[in-house]
Parts: sequence; C-alpha cells; structure tokens
Amino acid sequence: TRGGWLGRLKSGLRKTGGSITTVFTGTRIDEALYEELETALLLADTGVPATEHLLADLRRRVKEAKASEPAQVKALLQDAIAELLAPLEKTLVVGVYHPTVIMVAGVNGAGKTTSIGKLTKHLADAGASVLLAAADTFRAAAREQLAVWADRNRVEIISQQGADPSAVAFDAVAAGRARRLDVVLVDTAGRLPTQKHLMEELTKIRRVVTKADITAPHEVLLVIDGNTGQNALAQVRAFDEAIGLTGLVVTKLDGTAKGGVLCAIAREKPLPVYFIGVGEKLEDLQTFQAREFAQALVD
Ligand code: GDP
Repeated sequence: TRGGWLGRLKSGLRKTGGSITTVFTGTRIDEALYEELETALLLADTGVPATEHLLADLRRRVKEAKASEPAQVKALLQDAIAELLAPLEKTLVVGVYHPTVIMVAGVNGAGKTTSIGKLTKHLADAGASVLLAAADTFRAAAREQLAVWADRNRVEIISQQGADPSAVAFDAVAAGRARRLDVVLVDTAGRLPTQKHLMEELTKIRRVVTKADITAPHEVLLVIDGNTGQNALAQVRAFDEAIGLTGLVVTKLDGTAKGGVLCAIAREKPLPVYFIGVGEKLEDLQTFQAREFAQALVD
C-alpha cells in the first residue's frame, strides 16, 4: 500500500512543509501572506523561478476563485503545485525493446545502488527478466553491493574487477540481446578522480552501449538525493549535458528532504520522475504522483 510511506514522506517534508502550512494559519489573505509563502517556498528548496511561477499562478487562482480565507488559498496552492509537477509524472515503460537498456548514473551517496536494487525488485516482481551490469568497476564496494542486490532478487549480474566499465556495459547489452532479456540495468560510477573523468567515462559507456545495440540506451536515469536541494538541479544539468537524461529517481524523501526541489526541476529542467525513494527497504521505491506529492508538501 502507499499509505505507510506517505506518512514518512510527510514527516520528511514537515520540516519545511510545516512552515508552508503555518503560512495559512492566519485569518487574512494579504501581501504578508504572499511574502511569508515566498520565504517558505524558498526555504523548501523550490528555487526562485518556480517560486515566482507558483506565486503568480496562486494569485491568479485566488482571484478567479474569489477566495476569502487562507485555508482556501492553501488548497489552491496544492492545485498549483500539482499542476506544476504533473508533467513529471510518467511511467517507466519496459517491454518494447528486448532488452530495454537502462543506464543509471548519480553521484556517490545519492542512493544509486539502493535504487537499482529496488528497481530490480520492482521489475522482477512485474515478471521481467533482468540483467545487472556492474559498470562501476572503479569502486570494489559498489560491485559487491550490486552483487548483493542481484542475489537478493535472484537475477544475474555481469561484473568484472578492474575491467573497462564500457566493456562490462557492452557485454551486458550483448548478453541481454542474445538471451532476449527484458531489461539490462547498467550501474555506473558515481565518482572518479575528477568530474571531467566521470563525465567522460559516462559518455563513453553510453556510446559503447549504442554500439552493442543501435537503439540503446532506452533510458538514462539520474539518481538524486532529495536532500541536496538546489545542488540536485546542478547535478541534473551537468549529467544531462554529458549523457542526455531521460528521467530521474529522487531518493530520501522520507528523511529530512525539503521536497521543493521537485518544483524547481519541473520549472527549470523538467524530466520524468519515474520513482521516488522513501526509505532504505526494498519496497521503499514508489512511483511519483504529483497530486499526492503536492498535498504532502503543503499539508
Ligand atoms: P550510492 O553511493 O549512490 O550507490 O548510494 P547507496 O545506494 O549506497 O545509498 C547511500 C545511503 O543512502 C545508504 O545508506 C542507503 O541505505 C541510503 N538510501 C538510499 N535511498 C534511500 C531512501 O530513499 N531513503 C533513505 N532514508 N535512505 C536511502
């Protein structure tokens, strides 16, 4: 059920969600209310462009609805946020290609390995055959951790210590094609000696994956930590430039995440948010639903 995690999402958002809510505890709809709201949105990592957009949209809605009480304004803000976030609500489609090749990137600590483990379970539960490719050959721990997730989900993994990451990715895609598997998930490095190294490696993996299968990669996902605020947006931009992102996974929304960053993404770099991470357990990967999220954010 979605119920349990929604509570965690709300408590995660409460830090600032609370302050968004307190904006509406007064009795008047005046400039002070809009100013307080602006501050609250910015503190929730919404960023300037999305905050400005939301405030303008809200003023329009308040006028149109002839709202007379702050509680109504609160509901209208939920509507405005839900509408802003709606384009991010997309389903990850697998089954069109055999295999669907999903490349997964993200800086160390973002929750990439955990998310791949959860995603593997999600796909395997749905009946898909999955092959993991440990193309983060730089970090031994990353390979080992991925192998644990493969074990737990009873799926195969291609992993070779010290190998060239793009060679591992190539082999995995070739194996996926030969066996007509449903999904090949390619894990990639989250840190190399320099940012330039990292982006070059990711670009190379992408290029080599396409050599193995002219239609691949079918998805290029970036895992971002929902706690990193505006920095998450900078990551989205940098990775998109290097490898052309097709979607996001936003993790740790159960923790102390501020959540507004999704509004910033919607306004400044809209990409599908295929999944959100709301805990450390296998089942704590959920599909993103704009309306639900907007309500949790402002609740
Ligand atoms: P990686 O370096 O990007 O591969 O990150 P990991 O997958 O190893 O995750 C880093 C830490 O974040 C681990 O302690 C995970 O258990 C934790 N983590 C990952 N996703 C979530 C999430 O959605 N919620 C919470 N609370 N913790 C998470």
